[in-house]
Amino acid sequence: MEKYDIIIIGGGVSGLSCAITLGSAASKLDVASDKRILVIDAGASHLNKAEINNVAGIAEGTKGPELLGFMAKQAKSYENVTLLLGTVVSVAGTKGDFTVTTESDDTFQADIVVFANGMQTIDVKGINDLVVDHMRAPRPGMVMIKNDNGKIGDGKYVTGCAAGASSMFATAAGYGAQTATDIISTWTGKYTVIHDVLKKD
Ligand SMILES: Cc1cc2nc3c(=O)[nH]c(=O)nc-3n(C[C@H](O)[C@H](O)[C@H](O)COP(=O)(O)OP(=O)(O)OC[C@H]3O[C@@H](n4cnc5c(N)ncnc54)[C@H](O)[C@@H]3O)c2cc1C
Repeated sequence: MEKYDIIIIGGGVSGLSCAITLGSAASKLDVASDKRILVIDAGASHLNKAEINNVAGIAEGTKGPELLGFMAKQAKSYENVTLLLGTVVSVAGTKGDFTVTTESDDTFQADIVVFANGMQTIDVKGINDLVVDHMRAPRPGMVMIKNDNGKIGDGKYVTGCAAGASSMFATAAGYGAQTATDIISTWTGKYTVIHDVLKKD
């Protein structure tokens, strides 16, 4: 069974944002340099339905699928990040030894899992009893995973709309980056952000 440090379930806006921040840490922090991240995504991000006209810094009229493709490419550009198309059906185990199983019966091991599975249907054995109506649903039928500030247990995180963020690109992406910095901070032992600084000419 292949082992990863972190498995992110869902490769939409928040999952990819989380992976990009984690990936960017590898070249900056010794503790992050050997961490391997797997993103498993079922390919049904809400962003696929969007045309973007109101996200700070993103050109008006940008097509959602185009933006998602760009984010996936950004995530894959980090050597320690792997993206996989698949649907996770169960998560079992405890911190340091989670087993993640997909619909096609592939299994992976992880120290940490991050649920980034959006606000549509959340159906993963192991967390189903934590699924509740979404606290910021724009329409009925949306769901989220009950959590405490993005955590649902030791080594188990939830991010983006699945954690209760509003259905907006910026909030989902921001939550993903926050989850990544929360995880990185557990590695460093102090709150840590990953910044690049403008070089002087
Ligand atoms: C029609 C529409 C228009 C929108 N327009 C705008 C807009 O103009 N401006 C704006 O800011 N926002 C807009 N949004 C909102 C934006 O798309 C969302 O806020 C954002 O996509 C949420 O990110 P997320 O990561 O939480 O969820 P998503 O991006 O939905 O990603 C969740 C991912 O998890 C995957 N997944 C779910 N379960 C599993 C599983 N068991 N195993 C593996 N993968 C799984 C899904 O397939 C999906 O890819 C729009 C949304 C919609 C629906």
